[in-house]
Amino acid sequence: MDNVRFVRAKIPARTHGFAVKSCQPDGDFYTAVISEDLSDEAAYRAVLHEIEHVREDDFTSEYSVGEIENKMKVR
Ligand SMILES: [Zn+2]
Repeated sequence: MDNVRFVRAKIPARTHGFAVKSCQPDGDFYTAVISEDLSDEAAYRAVLHEIEHVREDDFTSEYSVGEIENKMKVR
């Protein structure tokens, strides 16, 4: 997954991470932001969680965010 970049940043405490999709002329690109307040283990889980969103292409899903989060394999 060389089209995914991970960055750590200060984000709201209840949010472990999030990802956004950018459509570029040479293909899709993803940026996942992981909370800098998480422990290394929690950050690792957050990375796996965001990778799952990319793998499932949840960014174009017809389901609500709540439904998508409920089906996630990695929490
Ligand atoms: Zn999620």
